[in-house]
Amino acid sequence: MNDCIFCRIIAGEIPSERVYEDDKMIVIRDVAPAAPVHVLMIPKAHTENIITAEPELLLYMFGKVKELAEKLGVNEKGFRIVANTGDDGGQTVKHLHIHLLGGKALGWPPC
Ligand code: 5GP
Ligand code: ZN
Repeated sequence: MNDCIFCRIIAGEIPSERVYEDDKMIVIRDVAPAAPVHVLMIPKAHTENIITAEPELLLYMFGKVKELAEKLGVNEKGFRIVANTGDDGGQTVKHLHIHLLGGKALGWPPC
């Protein structure tokens, strides 16, 4: 049994609110949103993070950001994308995901 929570969400074993899906990735609302708009871009093929992912996949995911920002209504006021990577990066789910946050003025730095 796959114990990766995002693989289980992709397989439909755990419910999620999907805002976008194609053959390569899903985009879901974060279960604990840190901003009014907080979604996770998750590739369908399991890979741990930005270090292990194929550059072509990362390019594809980043290439979808503009379309998603428009769909979520944050393209004009602005937003942030984040890929927490590894333990020091605060990555808690070891399946690559890119956070897209917006809908309010976000603080910086995040730590
Ligand atoms: P990380 O800390 O690894 O960068 O982010 C993991 C994110 O996944 C967190 O923001 C967390 O709220 C979210 N998350 C964890 N489990 C679930 C889940 O079962 N469903 C959804 N929609 N989000 C989840
Ligand atoms: Zn996985």
